[in-house]
Amino acid sequence: MIKIKNFINGKIVSPISGNYFENSSPVTGHNYSKVPDSDKSDVEYAVSSAKKAFLLWSKLSKKERYNYLMRLADEIENHSKELIEAESKDNGKPEWLAKSVDIPRSSENFRFFATASLHFSSEIHEMDGQAINYTLRQPIGVVGCISPWNLPLYLLTWKIAPALAAGNTVIAKPSEITPMTAFLLSKICKKARLPKGVLNIVHGYGHKVGEIISYHQDIPVISFTGGTSTGSKIASIASPMFKKLSLELGGKNPNIIFEDADFKSAVNMSIKAAFSNQGQICLCGSRLFVQDSIYNKFKESFVKKTKLLKVGDPKKKVDLGAIVSKEHMEKILNYIQLAKSEGGKIICGGKRIILNGKLKSGYYLEPTIIEGLNYNCKTNQEEIFGPVVSIMSFSSESEVINMANSTDYGLSTSIFTQNVSRAHRVSAGIESGIVWVNTWMLRDLRIPFGGMKNSGIGREGGFNSLQFFTEPKNVCIKI
Ligand code: NDP
Repeated sequence: MIKIKNFINGKIVSPISGNYFENSSPVTGHNYSKVPDSDKSDVEYAVSSAKKAFLLWSKLSKKERYNYLMRLADEIENHSKELIEAESKDNGKPEWLAKSVDIPRSSENFRFFATASLHFSSEIHEMDGQAINYTLRQPIGVVGCISPWNLPLYLLTWKIAPALAAGNTVIAKPSEITPMTAFLLSKICKKARLPKGVLNIVHGYGHKVGEIISYHQDIPVISFTGGTSTGSKIASIASPMFKKLSLELGGKNPNIIFEDADFKSAVNMSIKAAFSNQGQICLCGSRLFVQDSIYNKFKESFVKKTKLLKVGDPKKKVDLGAIVSKEHMEKILNYIQLAKSEGGKIICGGKRIILNGKLKSGYYLEPTIIEGLNYNCKTNQEEIFGPVVSIMSFSSESEVINMANSTDYGLSTSIFTQNVSRAHRVSAGIESGIVWVNTWMLRDLRIPFGGMKNSGIGREGGFNSLQFFTEPKNVCIKI
């Protein structure tokens, strides 16, 4: 059993209570690590270290902080093999995916925000010769970063990097389900000689450590990515304390295919959108709306290609690996049952896959396509967060905009059409923070990233993150 430890005050330490719980790999279903069951005393230790470190870190020049963060990025690259294997084993994703997306993005997050902080400038407002206003953007203090299990190191570093680049110190809480790469990051921080207390990683249960962080009066900023109900719980704690809060939450994202779309590309992209990372990306296109004139042709091709997807050992060249946990796999299977009870027909997949040998207790699911559901039934309204897509037809632009906007979520949308005017019209009418036209998950780290409605509050990415992690202060100088 690998013993994961906390990273506090520059040291890799056991939880003060000495308590651990076990964690399994979804690839085999077997326990293979022990995770610190941290509590208030560990968070207190981390907060006092981070407060002390803030006095020094916030006073460094931007260039000095840039140098540290670039060194962290280098060290992530130097340790990429170990990180790729760990991410795949802990989360169940194929190794090629961790290699092509998760781990390169984690080092890129540090490079990007280190560089962005050098270009982050103040606004100046001149008052007709009477005065000049400028805005100082100062680091705030100790920041709490709470992240989910689906893109473990990618999303953890997406928060840590801008928080540190802006001059704050951090208490990070990775998901208890996928703590391994955050643990490896602790060792990488030591290698990169990050000053002690600047980044503290406290492992443990969300309802324990996560809540203690959310309640802590010396943590005035919380950046959270995860489920909508957890986000709502955190908001109910943090809002009355007037904390600065960024919430990146769930999605039930529509993929809209118009009859004039580039057919082949729309089919391929829809498969990618539905099943990448076993459908466990907040941006996955889980509702597929196809214009009625091409519905049958599209469905046939979509089902045919989905049936060719390989599910299996994440170490091999498979399309889908394991679902993150037994509980999550069961949740997804329950949704497939619900879909049937709501009148849905499973036209592809729908079942658990039992692999051979060492992987026989792992959590593998067939990519699943459901047809025949009403757009406003429960299956089409709630986030499933697995390799499950519901396909529906529509006849007009206004009808599909209405169907797409019918959920409480508003994270992302993909539209496939070759008509430029239609692309603009539909993009403007859709209620979501991100709209992709003729693509999916094409990410530019400079854009404002986030959701509308129950998909979150605030935007991350580029200067948005640096604005979030700093306090604007207006200085007005009379002339
Ligand atoms: P959860 O909300 O269960 O957990 C997210 C994080 O919050 C974990 O670290 C978790 O810890 C912690 N947590 C759990 N309960 C509390 C609490 N009461 N107080 C404070 N922290 C808590 O989400 P999942 O990990 O299941 O992730 C999947 C969800 O994340 C999906 O809904 C998905 O859509 C969303 N997501 C959104 C993204 C976006 O950018 N909008 C991106 C990626 C995912 P622990 O795991 O230890 O319980």
